[in-house]
Amino acid sequence: MNLSCLLCYQASPTPVCHWCEDDMFFFTSQIHGCNLLKFGPVGRHVKHSHYDSLSVLSLHTWPISSLVHQLKFTHSLAAGKVLSHWFVHKKRQCTLSVPNILLPVPISAWRLAKRHYNQAHVLCQHFQVHMKIPISTSWAYRKGFSVQHHLSRSAREKNVKKTFSLTAGCIDQYFESSHLRDTNNKAPFTVAIVDDVITTGVTVNLLSKLLKARYPNIHIQVWAMTFTPPPKSTLIKDC
Ligand SMILES: [Zn+2]
Repeated sequence: MNLSCLLCYQASPTPVCHWCEDDMFFFTSQIHGCNLLKFGPVGRHVKHSHYDSLSVLSLHTWPISSLVHQLKFTHSLAAGKVLSHWFVHKKRQCTLSVPNILLPVPISAWRLAKRHYNQAHVLCQHFQVHMKIPISTSWAYRKGFSVQHHLSRSAREKNVKKTFSLTAGCIDQYFESSHLRDTNNKAPFTVAIVDDVITTGVTVNLLSKLLKARYPNIHIQVWAMTFTPPPKSTLIKDC
């Protein structure tokens, strides 16, 4: 098949050519650990008082930021596919438990009407196919018109509290059926909140706080494609 690389536009049999892929920085379980909350240059910069682990593919720097942008703003299914393919490969080398359910971070009804898709849900659909984990699409909702990316950290915190709510049913259906299925299973019910980019961690932390208030014993993982490093992060020189 005659394809061109999504990043450099050279002819390539794969969506991202091997030259671009070889140049890319990826977090690895061997170097950075399976849970990036325990890795200082990431853990120190994201809010994480209510979730248990963080798995991220890469830094939100070029060229991978371009793939996230293509997924988010141009509905590039190829970009979504290549990001999720790399992420699934990464998860297969990781020792964290496989979640019972995937929870895409919701976008507002207004944004959904404009964009026609939720990029976090697109990623979850790939994970569902390759990892056989169900998705809940109606666990939480996002109100209003607000966007977060231009706000400061403190403004984000204030904004996010009035923006997100859990739905009435939330994950009851999955939570109860897992208990009914296996009453001897003492492993905690585990969810993975999925988002495209983590910047301050405020959104996923608030969603985790709401979930733990309703389901106190669940275990919460956060999965994201990229992490935006703060301006003077030591990580920037690595990529
Ligand atoms: Zn390329």
